[in-house]
Amino acid sequence: MKITLKDGSVKEYAESKSVYDIAMDISEGLARAACAGQVNGKVVDLRTVVEEDCDLNILTANDKEGLAVLRHTTSHVLAEAVKNLFPDAKITIGPSIENGFYYDFDHAPFSREDLDNLEAEMKKIIKKGDKLEKFTLPREEAIKFMEERQEPYKVELIRDLPEDAEISFYRQGDFVDLCAGPHLMSTKSIKAFKLISSSGAYWRGKSENAMLQRIYGTAFNKKEELAEYLEYLDNIKNRDHNKLGREMELFTTVDVIGQGLPLLMPKGAKMIQTLQRWIEDEEEKRGYVRTKTPLMAKSDLYKISGHWDHYKEGMFVLGDEEKDKEVMALRPMTCPFQYYVYKASQKSYRDLPIRYGETSTLFRNEDSGEMHGLTRVRQFTIS
Ligand SMILES: [Zn+2]
Repeated sequence: MKITLKDGSVKEYAESKSVYDIAMDISEGLARAACAGQVNGKVVDLRTVVEEDCDLNILTANDKEGLAVLRHTTSHVLAEAVKNLFPDAKITIGPSIENGFYYDFDHAPFSREDLDNLEAEMKKIIKKGDKLEKFTLPREEAIKFMEERQEPYKVELIRDLPEDAEISFYRQGDFVDLCAGPHLMSTKSIKAFKLISSSGAYWRGKSENAMLQRIYGTAFNKKEELAEYLEYLDNIKNRDHNKLGREMELFTTVDVIGQGLPLLMPKGAKMIQTLQRWIEDEEEKRGYVRTKTPLMAKSDLYKISGHWDHYKEGMFVLGDEEKDKEVMALRPMTCPFQYYVYKASQKSYRDLPIRYGETSTLFRNEDSGEMHGLTRVRQFTIS
């Protein structure tokens, strides 16, 4: 068979070979650094045996896809560690994400101390260096397998797979996870990882489902890369407007007033005033004329603008459509109002262009989970 490598060179073999063996044949260093293979574009385990002509790319942690395999494998190590230290925890899913990975568990919230203990347990697992071995089971046996292990979420996932899907599992030591892969060959190849944080997350992202505990972590090819990333996270934390703004007494929030409804304190209000004056002067210089329109309107306006049909969930509606003759809603946008300013008089083409400006306060009913500092709020002002 002919294997075409990424650089265009071709390797020929008389018999089938695993991706790992091909990497070895290219260079021992490459095989050592390899995380996965990419056969005709599809990311696969290094153990995957290549049997016919194909394009092959050996992925290392320097490739986005290779790094994702490393991180995802680390999530399996985390799951094994959780089962070792908290045998009652139920496992669910653990994908790689942009800057690392997470794994969701049905368990009581994890403290930072728990995460530290889990990191120590993960180091033991990595040192042991179990191989990750894939096996498949027919659907009914796969369900029975996870039922016996008392993993109801895994059973649910298997039941949701198409009837003819190949149901694959990966074993590392005594720990087995339902997973499509791919993974590293051995846990030993995980050189640098860190558990970052833990927070609640609903099973399958739906609020009617069970609340799970999500542990976020990350992994890198080298200890130095991990250290650099952790330093970056620290810097972000120190520059977080939500932290700084409160420390500098620019704004605050109060439970009885509500989430997403920040109170600008004198220093913050002064900043807003300065900004608003500058914007309004600048707009005037650029030929804008000011309007001042109401903060609320009857539902009739929003029915014309389309908000009522498409955005009612995100609006603060005052009143009950079934009972009240007139239902009002706080405005999520200014343009439907300014439209009626324009429409109030006859215009000639000589009047154009007309530029209306308004420093206007808007209201959007965000989910309480989405609120953050001054970036996701329920009331805000734009100009
Ligand atoms: Zn996996």
